[in-house]
Amino acid sequence: MLTIKDYCLAESIQQAYELNRKKQNKILGGGIWLKCCHFPIQTAIDLSGLGLEGITETEEGFEIGAMTSLRQLETHEGLNACTCGAVKEALRHIVGTQFRNCATVGGSLFGRFGFSDVLTLFLGLEAFVELYPTGIIPIGEFAKMQPDDSILTKIFVKKDQGKTAYLSARNTSTDFPLAACCVSWKEGTLTASMGARPAKAAAFSRENVCLEDLEKEEFLEEFARDAAASVNFGSNRRASAEYRNYVTKVLIKRCLGSIKEGDR
Ligand SMILES: Cc1cc2nc3c(=O)[nH]c(=O)nc-3n(C[C@H](O)[C@H](O)[C@H](O)COP(=O)(O)OP(=O)(O)OC[C@H]3O[C@@H](n4cnc5c(N)ncnc54)[C@H](O)[C@@H]3O)c2cc1C
Repeated sequence: MLTIKDYCLAESIQQAYELNRKKQNKILGGGIWLKCCHFPIQTAIDLSGLGLEGITETEEGFEIGAMTSLRQLETHEGLNACTCGAVKEALRHIVGTQFRNCATVGGSLFGRFGFSDVLTLFLGLEAFVELYPTGIIPIGEFAKMQPDDSILTKIFVKKDQGKTAYLSARNTSTDFPLAACCVSWKEGTLTASMGARPAKAAAFSRENVCLEDLEKEEFLEEFARDAAASVNFGSNRRASAEYRNYVTKVLIKRCLGSIKEGDR
């Protein structure tokens, strides 16, 4: 059960950060993951008064506030148009609509959960995150860091996403994924972000790939094999390492197939 002793609606990001430096205090996103944790919270720090909710479209891309719900992302037309629907496909399987109305993108990324569709997606989109007080860093760098007392304030996604596809596999609908992939082709670079291995997402890239290469079955096989070989797979009660490795290769090839189809 979640127990919270004090509540603070933060008036500034500095105030939120100072409070968050105390170990027993916690930032509240949607609070859904926190509800599953069994430690008592001294002060819950609410960021909802800091204007961090919503998606702003700029000339170059999208600025996404950390308090934006997964549902707002899933239904955002501009983001989906730029990512060939990958954002919607990544998020629509997460539990249910009411759940996605509450869970925030900041809470989803900050934990760097191994099962995360959200991290797999944004790594595949080569997003940037803004941390207070660090500043803006590539999400790949952020994914490798351990959670600390910094605060995630924004996520940036560029508009020039090239061609993108996302797919995940689950034992049953709404369960955590047992494999998840976001594949993109942009300016000759093919990238596969692989999550739910069950470790957190990691990416593999190959340069100098032209769209005609995607027509070749042996190229698809080789890319999927090399991408899967670049990461480690583990076993848990959802799937064995061997099965995850196999399914990840299938998902990558299917993503490549839809990138190829989308080009026709
Ligand atoms: C039953 C269940 C099933 C799920 N299934 C999936 C799934 O299939 N795929 C998937 O990708 N995800 C899944 N999730 C995870 C979910 O989508 C959210 O990622 C999760 O609930 C966290 O979001 P939240 O807004 O509730 O964060 P919270 O619970 O509020 O916070 C999570 C952590 O992040 C910290 N935090 C929150 N916001 C910030 C911030 N801005 N800066 C710094 N720290 C912050 C909090 O202090 C806390 O430690 C599942 C979760 C549950 C409970």
